[in-house]
Amino acid sequence: MNEAKDVTEIRDVVIAGSGVAGLSAAVYAARADLEPLVLEGPEPGGQLTLTTDVENFLGFHEGVGGMELIQRGKEQAESFGAEFTHGTIEDATLDGRPFELELANGDVLRTRALIVATGASARWVGAENEDELMGYGLSTCATCDGAFHRGDDVLVIGGGDSAMEEALFLTKFADSVTVVHRRDELRASEVMANRALEHDDVEFQWNTELLEIHGSQETGVTGATLISHPDGLPKKKLDDGEDVERERVDVGGIFYGVGHVPNTDFLEGTPVELADSGHLETLEGMTTETSVAGVFGAGDVMDPDYRQAITSAGTGSMAALDAEEWLEKQVDEGTQELLAEASD
Ligand code: NAP
Repeated sequence: MNEAKDVTEIRDVVIAGSGVAGLSAAVYAARADLEPLVLEGPEPGGQLTLTTDVENFLGFHEGVGGMELIQRGKEQAESFGAEFTHGTIEDATLDGRPFELELANGDVLRTRALIVATGASARWVGAENEDELMGYGLSTCATCDGAFHRGDDVLVIGGGDSAMEEALFLTKFADSVTVVHRRDELRASEVMANRALEHDDVEFQWNTELLEIHGSQETGVTGATLISHPDGLPKKKLDDGEDVERERVDVGGIFYGVGHVPNTDFLEGTPVELADSGHLETLEGMTTETSVAGVFGAGDVMDPDYRQAITSAGTGSMAALDAEEWLEKQVDEGTQELLAEASD
């Protein structure tokens, strides 16, 4: 067994997360000579590594692959001196200084400033058997698993841009793609919604939710039980004791595209304020500062609204600039204190 390292070195900045927000923070912090350490987290590169083409990132009018954008960002950050390491924060002590971060492998890191860019992870819908079948025909990532479903009938759950993107991507492999949405109106942007609605190989099942997934780890997904209600939100109607229509369908794959939850578990029990949704709260105004001085938030972990690659890059750069300014202030205040002590 590996011995846990108690790393006594105190870093200026640790950046938790290596998605577009973490990488942008790393570029800025490295260029400011802060020698940031980037903890890559359980999903190195974050959500962009799971997406196909990004068509709305400024400067790439013909689109750029999500993975390529991330790889280029990492190379850029490394070229300025950012250090990357595998690591996920399990526990954080943020009420003393320096901050202490305990990683999943037992290592302990110390840092003066922390940039939280841990992003968000795919939400699950709570259907029966999802725990057993995730990875066995049930997936949260069409770009990762779509190719396993050549010739299958598949369902995509959700009505946002992610679900539309997954559905369109899956038409390359699946025999049929049905989007199952709990209301009769899509949440997706107009351009994505129209692309899916106008696609000959994408069907829609409105006012419908996934109740149960059928199959086993041996057979993979073989089917699903769907429930519908003409007024939408059938699961809620069922919970309220109303009648819903049930239908069993045979499918070989199910893809969740129902949004994401912020990765802030390690901040619970620390003085960093979290919103009810779990998002990191930042202070009022245009800042990435949080309720704990020296802790900054960037990207999807602090942004429930915009959640775009370009806005994550923006808040990442802001967090590094805010951290740099804060660290300089600490040095100035320390110098003032020493001068005051010397003159006493
Ligand atoms: P989202 O916009 O929050 O949409 C989530 C969808 O899942 C909604 O339609 C929601 O239904 C449904 N949903 C949520 N929980 C559910 C549950 N338990 N059971 C059934 N359905 C459920 O999330 P997103 O699609 O991941 O998009 C997030 C952000 O990323 C957006 O800003 C989007 O524009 C952006 N994005 C952009 C692109 C692109 O431009 N290529 C691709 C992907 C994502 P309701 O509508 O009823 O709430």
